[in-house]
Amino acid sequence: MIKLQNYINGELISPVNDNWLDNYEPARGKVYSQIPDSDADDIALAVEAAKAAFPSWSKTSIDERHDCLMRIASLIEEKLDMLAAAESRDNGKPLKLATRVDIPRAASNFRFYATAAMQFSSEAHPMPGMAINYTLRQPLGVVGCISPWNLPLYLFSWKIAPALATGNTVVAKPSEITPMTAYLLSEICIEAGLPKGVLNIVHGLGHKAGAAIVDDPAVTAISFTGGTKTGAAIAAQAAPKFKKLSLELGGKNPNIIFADCDFNKMISTTMHSSFANQGQICLCGSRIYVQRSIYDQFKEEFVKRTKALTVGDPADPETKLGAIVSEPHMEKILSYVALAQEEGGTVLAGGHRVQFDGDLADGWYVEPTIIDGLAPGCRTNQEEIFGPVVTITPFDTEEEALELANGTQYGLSCTIWTEDLTRAHRMAENIHAGIVWINCWLLRDLRTPFGGTKQSGVGREGGFEAMRFFTEPKNVCIKYG
Ligand code: NDP
Repeated sequence: MIKLQNYINGELISPVNDNWLDNYEPARGKVYSQIPDSDADDIALAVEAAKAAFPSWSKTSIDERHDCLMRIASLIEEKLDMLAAAESRDNGKPLKLATRVDIPRAASNFRFYATAAMQFSSEAHPMPGMAINYTLRQPLGVVGCISPWNLPLYLFSWKIAPALATGNTVVAKPSEITPMTAYLLSEICIEAGLPKGVLNIVHGLGHKAGAAIVDDPAVTAISFTGGTKTGAAIAAQAAPKFKKLSLELGGKNPNIIFADCDFNKMISTTMHSSFANQGQICLCGSRIYVQRSIYDQFKEEFVKRTKALTVGDPADPETKLGAIVSEPHMEKILSYVALAQEEGGTVLAGGHRVQFDGDLADGWYVEPTIIDGLAPGCRTNQEEIFGPVVTITPFDTEEEALELANGTQYGLSCTIWTEDLTRAHRMAENIHAGIVWINCWLLRDLRTPFGGTKQSGVGREGGFEAMRFFTEPKNVCIKYG
């Protein structure tokens, strides 16, 4: 059985304690590899390596850093098929999705931040006749990057690339549930000639390896993406040490559909925003609000299309929904379907585990599920399920839609469907969310700030926001007058 290894100081090595964790293939529910069960000793090695690499990497010319990140991007592109297959197997997502979205976007992250490094600049503030202030934006040192399982390589690279581009050295931990593409990235970094110690990838459990990264005094900043509860634990651990924090957390995103929308465009995009990656994208629209005059039409079409979605082997090109990432996560999703019914909801489509025969018999599959008839304040409508489960609710007025949309503790993203431009802008201004999509979903320009408000996070990633996060501004004031 394959044993993945940690990538520390430019080498692939086993964990100090020689303890290993099983890594499962969700489509088959079977162990197919093992990963290091790293602890504080491995993190200490990784931090030492990153500290040693920092003086040289932070002074490496921007051209060289750019070239190095570009080589990584090119290698990801060259190995796209292999990486997509690995990610699909590790995560359970349809191979088509990994091939078309996840892996190309991971390459784009490296490409984008390689070139952003060439454009990044700092400010000068002249005091006429007297002095000039200029701001140095310097790398922080050793930074920690911790990422979740749902878009493994994409979210991992989304943090690592800007950290490296700005001259930091990194200790990173992917989710232990989906470690494979992070491991393959370490091989790519070796092939690309990334200097040793600049990036260190340590595998293991969040509460052990992850917590050790947050705890280490030499780690000056943590960029974390994951659940809100974990974000709170990390914030509590990091705050007394005054670490810089960027937290990208959970969501319960509204999808608001007005009667004047382009129905065909809306319904086909709503299928994706509801069920892409088995609903395991932080930006999926899980609360769907539909204006009453088209509610029945929407319900009929949405239910029909949802029932026609193929759940199956992630490797099959016909598959629309693959496997759920883990057995506990599948149980959690199904428990929410049961809860929704206890809360008075009606299941219009799905609601069950899908059980296959043969090779996939032990895999973790859930039908795409639509629930109608729930009150806005109930737990099903308030808590993040993070699976292929959406609720639908009618509304009458724009004010009501806004109140429903804003009525949770989360504020990550929102989608609005309307052909009324004035209303679209008015709604966008008043929605509590970091990202508002109008007549589209998941359309991303990497230059724009990315992140959530309320319990969905603190800070912003994306574009120069991430470059600012990973640098410390220092003002230099020179008096000449
Ligand atoms: P978790 O919060 O469980 O884990 C995220 C990462 O943190 C994992 O690598 C995990 O390791 C690690 N971790 C767990 N506990 C600690 C700790 N005490 N200290 C340090 N690290 C720790 O999230 P999931 O992996 O379950 O991902 C799903 C969540 O991520 C959802 O809530 C989703 O909304 C959110 N998300 C948010 C996004 C955004 O941009 N806002 C984007 C994508 C997802 P381990 O796997 O070993 O537990």
